[in-house]
Amino acid sequence: MEKTVQLYEGKAKKVYATADENLCIVSYKDDATAFNGLKKGTIAGKGVVNNRMSNMLMQLLEKQGVPTHYVEELSDRETVVKKVKIVPLEVIIRNVSAGSFAKRYGVEEGIAFDEPTIEFSYKNDDLGDPLINTYHALALKLATKQEIETIKTYAFKVNEVLKNYFAALGVRLIDFKLEFGKLPDGTIVLADEISPDTCRFWDIKTNEKLDKDRFRRDMGGVEDAYKEIFKRVTAGE
Ligand code: ADP
Ligand code: UDP
Repeated sequence: MEKTVQLYEGKAKKVYATADENLCIVSYKDDATAFNGLKKGTIAGKGVVNNRMSNMLMQLLEKQGVPTHYVEELSDRETVVKKVKIVPLEVIIRNVSAGSFAKRYGVEEGIAFDEPTIEFSYKNDDLGDPLINTYHALALKLATKQEIETIKTYAFKVNEVLKNYFAALGVRLIDFKLEFGKLPDGTIVLADEISPDTCRFWDIKTNEKLDKDRFRRDMGGVEDAYKEIFKRVTAGE
């Protein structure tokens, strides 16, 4: 499988067409951004970690009954995926207070919830990905009621699978963002990536952050954090 034309260059990945109109190739970059692109930088080796980690997790999720876009890993940074029409909703699941949740509601980070929460943002860079509820998403025709129900069911299932998986690696899954897409026949599948760019991971014993917050918050040790979480994920391969 080979790349043909570049379809899109995002902040963290490039997307290429292939000879098969139903497949594309994503190429993971080391570029890092935060705060809607205001903060820019590079995290050496990030593309490799995110590509390989996302692929492993997508395969695990497939086995557990969550359909995904994953097809085949081509190299350290490149993967063949099913081409989807992205549903323009960022789906955020939280197990523990952190980030914008803590800020919005004026609570400290690290409060474990009895039940996971879900929220949606409208995926629109010009608007800064504003928080949106499902009524508004329906009004804007971003997805149908049925699609939103399917997305919610899959998102909570992803949480159950990943929470247990990471717990076994000594990692607390704090929160994460998912994107879903539609195949030509309308099937909803998990798309984009699952990586330290899109999840918060805290060491179970020390609460050390093993994710992009180290970059967002200028904490240092960014590359080492990506290496550490990757080491744990690949240890059991
Ligand atoms: P951004 O667009 O936020 O800068 P990226 O740099 O990660 O993000 O770019 C990857 C783009 O590809 C995103 O817009 C994402 O929604 C999209 N995408 C992810 N998976 C697929 C897929 N299977 N088919 C088509 N587009 C996808
Ligand atoms: N997230 C993401 N992309 C975004 C916004 C959030 O991957 O555009 C992830 C983020 O890494 C975290 C979770 O979603 O794991 C919740 O993020 P939050 O809403 O707390 O926002 P932030 O603090 O990152 O602004």
